[in-house]
Amino acid sequence: MPARPSPSRIPDSVSENDSSPPAIPRNADGGPGRFSPTAAGSLDGKVVLVDPGHNGGNAGAPSTINRLIWNGRESETCDTTGTETDSGYTEAQFNWNVARYLTADLRAEGATVVLTRTSNTGVGPCVTQRAAIGNETRANAGVSIHADGGPPSGRGFAILEPVADGINNAIVGPSAILGADLRSAFGTGAGEPASSYDGVDGIQPRKDLAGINLSTIPKVFIECANMRNAADAALVTSSAWQAKAAWAIASGITTFLKER
Ligand SMILES: [Zn+2]
Repeated sequence: MPARPSPSRIPDSVSENDSSPPAIPRNADGGPGRFSPTAAGSLDGKVVLVDPGHNGGNAGAPSTINRLIWNGRESETCDTTGTETDSGYTEAQFNWNVARYLTADLRAEGATVVLTRTSNTGVGPCVTQRAAIGNETRANAGVSIHADGGPPSGRGFAILEPVADGINNAIVGPSAILGADLRSAFGTGAGEPASSYDGVDGIQPRKDLAGINLSTIPKVFIECANMRNAADAALVTSSAWQAKAAWAIASGITTFLKER
């Protein structure tokens, strides 16, 4: 991808209602949306699923998000509230901001982007639906954006990869390649170390996540940082770093898709 544009227009910190990331047209119900390319580029003809984890309204809707679903191996709740920094900046907001930067970056490189939600004030969708949206649109690659609530002494990012369960068998191999491309791009582009407590060298296979258990497209999760760690909390609440993280993710996805 070309050099990242200067983030100088973006303030250093963001509030819960920050609107500095690129605007996304909000669907009537804040649900999924599909967005055409804004320019031609190396991702012409590609479709990318961008899944911002959780949702801003989840905490107020326990009866909806605590409903049990089948994740391909076992029961799991429809969704969760996600974590937050010690000062209360929510993971749902961080994920949403990174997703908006990432969507703009990918569209400018020629990709069509499918988002699993188009606001941060709704509830869900359930993790099963988040997987189904990527499958139904036959996206060429997918990424679920998250940040972790780990031990305060630990920091860094981790890529969560699928483990074969029958449904996802065909995408375990390609997802490992996507994960390796993302790990390389994120370590360099976001300047974030691999997690000191989750996975090995930034890679952690997971059997308990519907989003990758039920996926039939190459897909991984990225835990961008540890929101409970002071150094990482300073990053996740910075618009400049959110944009940087998104650009790094876009670069990793671009590397993966150019190989295919
Ligand atoms: Zn999360």
